[in-house]
Amino acid sequence: MNAPAPVKGCRDVPVLKQRGQREVFCGLTGIIWLHRKMQDAFFLVVGSRTCAHLLQSAAGVMIFAEPRFGTAILEEKDLAGLADANTELDREVARLLSRRPDIRQLFLVGSCPSEVIKLDLARAAERLSAMHAPAVRVYNYSGSGIETTFTQGEDACLAAMVPALPVTDARELLLVGALPDVVEDQALALLAAMGIGPVRCLPARRAAALTGVGPNTVFALTQPFLGDTHAALVRRGATHIAAPFPFGEEGTTLWLRAVADAFGVSDAVFEAVTAAPRARARRAVAAHAATLTGKSVFFFPDSQMEPCLARFLTRECGMTALEVGTPYLHTGLLGPDLDLLAEGPVISEGQDVDLQLDRVRSLRPDLTVCGLGLANPLEAEGLTTKWAIELVFTPVHFYEQAGDLAGLFSRPLRRKALLHREAAE
Ligand code: SF4
Repeated sequence: MNAPAPVKGCRDVPVLKQRGQREVFCGLTGIIWLHRKMQDAFFLVVGSRTCAHLLQSAAGVMIFAEPRFGTAILEEKDLAGLADANTELDREVARLLSRRPDIRQLFLVGSCPSEVIKLDLARAAERLSAMHAPAVRVYNYSGSGIETTFTQGEDACLAAMVPALPVTDARELLLVGALPDVVEDQALALLAAMGIGPVRCLPARRAAALTGVGPNTVFALTQPFLGDTHAALVRRGATHIAAPFPFGEEGTTLWLRAVADAFGVSDAVFEAVTAAPRARARRAVAAHAATLTGKSVFFFPDSQMEPCLARFLTRECGMTALEVGTPYLHTGLLGPDLDLLAEGPVISEGQDVDLQLDRVRSLRPDLTVCGLGLANPLEAEGLTTKWAIELVFTPVHFYEQAGDLAGLFSRPLRRKALLHREAAE
């Protein structure tokens, strides 16, 4: 049901910017999917018990599967400066690495407490890298709630890796963004079928597969929240391929087309490779669009994926967007998506949650996309909600997942209809 590009999209519309009480995750949560992607990495949060508890509850059952993340908890004596935090950190890291010899990349992840007491984790990472080279490379980034919101943790992590990548002059395509392996394999297969290569991924599944970067590198982002990583790659001389993000049939096709154009792929080859999966994706989306067409949607800010998802839901599923909230709006990266999103919805950046709740209550959308902390209370007020976190943890990119992506939004509406019917009987 792809609509033609609107006469006026949302790229230049005024953005409602609000600062106040926020209901979002901090960047530490990125560790949950990053540690699964990077199979020889360990994420050591330097933080408090609050940070450890956050990771435990966000990771759910994963914490029982010997995950490759943990928290070095700052005790009171560390906070009072009585203990040398650096000596303790060195000792903890040495103990960890001797227990887990499979670790090749270690991330020291800053938190609110470590940032507030100004623990210099960048220096610590340099020192520890020298101590444990060449077997282990130690990086540092911040996932603190003061500086990062949810998916920005991935951005901070990848941006921290970019300066350490070796230099290369090779013309290579770099796919940037942590995708589930099965989705990454689908993307690589489509690109290979078009003769595009060599293709590398950031993050790589293992440290040994890490890419080089240089003036001939071209890169495509698979996630919209990678602003700092984008800037770090551009600083290394790489060129970005701007495109809508690969959500839904249309997004995937436009994303692939932009990459194919950068590599001189002919229309005939592009058509031959994409025709069948495009048709499959359209069919799969259509099955859910029947439920979604004509319904309104309201996005609370969460992952920065909201503008792309609103573009998908309005253009491929026939929904109307009332408000598209995002924690940060990087118009440079999201421009192509915003161009396709017809003018109409309020585009809001940041949050004052009480004011936003007032807006959602007065609009009463058919579907509200929000965090876990708001979902049940809003359900109790009779609004139908979709938990936004699932959109980050579920494979939703590229053609084969387009139907599942639509399904994530249609399911709560179908469940609501079912419950109403049962109640009426
Ligand atoms: S980093 Fe900050 S916001 Fe995140 S869990 Fe720790 S204290 Fe809380």
